[in-house]
Amino acid sequence: MDPSSGMRARAAATFAASLKLENVTRTYGEAAALTGINLEIAPGEIICLLGPSGCGKTTLLRVISGIERPTSGRVLINDSEVAGPNRFVPPENRSVGLMFQDFALFPHLSVIENVAFGLKSLPSVERTKAARAILERVGLTAFANAYPSTLSGGQQQRVALARAIVPRPAVMLMDEPFSGLDVQLRDTMQEETLALLRETRATSLIVTHHPEEAMRLSDRIAVLRDGRVVQVGTTQNLYEAPASLFVARLFSEINEMPARVSGGQISTAAGVFPAPDLPDGSSAVLCIRERAITLEAAKNGNGTAPGALLGRVQDLKFLGDITRLDVAVQGFDHLLKVRSPGINPFPKGSEVVVKIEREAVLVFQADANGDNGENNRLS
Ligand code: ATP
Repeated sequence: MDPSSGMRARAAATFAASLKLENVTRTYGEAAALTGINLEIAPGEIICLLGPSGCGKTTLLRVISGIERPTSGRVLINDSEVAGPNRFVPPENRSVGLMFQDFALFPHLSVIENVAFGLKSLPSVERTKAARAILERVGLTAFANAYPSTLSGGQQQRVALARAIVPRPAVMLMDEPFSGLDVQLRDTMQEETLALLRETRATSLIVTHHPEEAMRLSDRIAVLRDGRVVQVGTTQNLYEAPASLFVARLFSEINEMPARVSGGQISTAAGVFPAPDLPDGSSAVLCIRERAITLEAAKNGNGTAPGALLGRVQDLKFLGDITRLDVAVQGFDHLLKVRSPGINPFPKGSEVVVKIEREAVLVFQADANGDNGENNRLS
């Protein structure tokens, strides 16, 4: 990206709107793409919709924008029903901006014509003035008369963003807006997009596959799975108190150990942990965060202290800020993965004492989908 094309001036602010989804369901034939979605978004708030492929993210954006109708339930913008049993407001009258994954620029229109396209209701002079102002804001003044095919990925992303934001939508919907960009450009564009959204105060819903992207961009994250919202919260909420194994896997690197609940607790090689909410005899999973494990050199019998476990370093990788180690621990079926800050002092083959921070351990019901093996990533 051309550093001289940094964003300038400030974009005009919009009247931020609240967005409310009430029990929104969308089915296709027998199949439910969305089931009973409830979500309230405050004016100016930025929410990321995070979930695996096929969980209904795009369908939800389409329902909010008015491209699709919900099968049942209601969509309200500023407490006014825009989709529901009593009313259906067409997309162009909802004050909703849409930005697609592939940017969907018109190839036969110049940059400025693409941006002005969404301002058809304005007189020509005002359209051009508003389009020029937003192009200046996204640092593309010099490209006003260029055609999309001559632009880089980052520049195309900026044109798409400018086009979506220039009508000052009350609600901005973005479907994986960064997925077409390479990693370095993605970081820059995320920061610039976030600055623009904050400036315009548009209430925003951003779809992503990437937990890290969601954490970086959002005020809150709504996690979707199989057409349902499974948890909504700030990054900190979701990290500290995931409601399920599925969510825990998204926001933390964890070791998983299967166990069976007995008398409101589980007994594992790592110790006994309370599981008061799980039925007796049910399958559970003990999750130990990789960062919640510390290693000490085994010496002077310190491995016999209560709660201490003896292990041997099987492998390690220095990854810059952290070292990732695989440790064989007595009584464990799998190697324990450990993230240790900085340069690790334990070479391969070292005998170590493993200490697990008990407060950072989580116990969940085994995943109903039977997916209790390796950590799941969304992409
Ligand atoms: P991705 O991340 O891969 O884009 P997504 O989370 O956006 O996935 P959707 O595109 O919303 O998922 O699709 C949700 C479910 O609804 C999928 O099972 C999909 O096959 C189904 N679906 C979506 N649109 C239609 C349609 N027009 N007709 C039939 N089924 C559909």
